[in-house]
Amino acid sequence: MKKPKVYITSRSFGLFSEGALELIKSVAEIERSPYDRAMNEEELLKVIGDIDGLIVGSDKINRKIIEYSKNLKIIAKHGVGIDNIDLKAATDNNIVVAYAHHANAESVADFTIGLILSIARHVPQAHFSIKRGMWEGTKFIGTEVYGKTIGIIGLGAIGYRVAKRARGFDMRILVYDPYVSYERAKEIPAKLVNFDILLKKSDFITLHVALTDETRGMIGEKEFALMKKTAYFINTARGPIVDETALCKALSEKKIAGAAIDVFSKEPPSADSPLFRLDNVVISPHIAAYTLETICRMDMINAEDIVNFFRGENPRYIANAEVLDRIRLK
Ligand code: NAD
Repeated sequence: MKKPKVYITSRSFGLFSEGALELIKSVAEIERSPYDRAMNEEELLKVIGDIDGLIVGSDKINRKIIEYSKNLKIIAKHGVGIDNIDLKAATDNNIVVAYAHHANAESVADFTIGLILSIARHVPQAHFSIKRGMWEGTKFIGTEVYGKTIGIIGLGAIGYRVAKRARGFDMRILVYDPYVSYERAKEIPAKLVNFDILLKKSDFITLHVALTDETRGMIGEKEFALMKKTAYFINTARGPIVDETALCKALSEKKIAGAAIDVFSKEPPSADSPLFRLDNVVISPHIAAYTLETICRMDMINAEDIVNFFRGENPRYIANAEVLDRIRLK
C-alpha cells in the first residue's frame, strides 16, 4: 500500500533529534519546506495538492489552502496557538487539527519571568550601554519584583506555571480568567478578580490567553488607562490581543512604566515600528517557546499524533474532535 505523504513546514521540527522524523518515516513519506521562514499562500498551494498530513509552524493555513488540498486529513501544529489555522475550514473539510498542548508551557513561563526581570531592571539597556563603552549605573535604577503584585490574564497551562514561579518571588497573585475554577486558583494560591481590578491593582500584568474572536483587541487604550503609571505590561501570548498603537501611546506618554513584548500584530514587525524607538520596552522575536526541551517535546507529540492517526488511533490533543467521529464513522 502507498504510504501517506507528510509535509513539514515548521523550520524547527526535528532540529535537535532525528527520533521524531524516524517515527513518522515508519508510516509516511516526508517532504520538507525548502524555505527558512513561514511559507506563503502561493508556495503552500504548490505543494498541498497531494499531501495527506501537514506539520506546520506559524504558516497561515487559510480556507483556500485547505479546500485546494485533495488528500489532506490531518494538520499538526508544531506549537500550541492554532490561530494561524482556519479551524472552521478544516472542520468543514473533515481535517483533524492536532496541537502540542502543554509542550512549551514551562519554556514560555520561564521566558515570561525573564522578561519581567529584564524590564524591571533594564537588563538589555544596561547590556548595550556597557558594550558601547559607557558606565552609567544610576541610569538603570530599577524596581524590585519581590513582593509585588502580578496580574495574570488567562490561567491555562502557561499562566498557571507563571503563577507558580511568581510565588518564588513572594508576589501577590491576581488572576482574571472567566473559565477557570476557584479551586484551580486556590492551588497556587492566587486570587480570582474581575478584569478591571486586575488592571488597576497589578504592578506586572502578563497575558496568557489564546487569540480568539473574544480576546482579539482585549487590551487597548481603555485598559492601559486603568493600569498604574508604574505598571509593566508583558505579552508572550499573541500580538493581535493587544492594540499595538494604544500600547505605543501608553508607553510614549508614560501612562505605564514599560512593556516586554515577544509577539506582534504583524510578524516580523516592519522596520519602522514605533516600538523600536521606545526606551521603556524590551522586545524579542517570538522566541518564548524556543528551547531545546520544548522543540523536542513538540516534535514527539506531533510525530506520535501523525503515526497514531494514520494507524487509525486518535491523536492526543485535538482542536476539532467532532471530525474524528465523522471520519471514523465513514
Ligand atoms: P491554555 O489554553 O492552556 O490557556 C488559556 C487560558 O486562557 C485558559 O485558562 C482559558 O480559560 C483562558 N481564557 C480564555 N478566554 C479568556 C478571556 N477572554 N479572558 C481571560 N482568560 C481567558 O493555553 P496556553 O498553553 O497557556 O497558551 C496560551 C497562549 O500563549 C497560546 O494560545 C498561544 O497563543 C500563546 N503562546 C505563545 C508562545 C510564544 O512563543 N510567545 C508559545 C506558546 C503559546
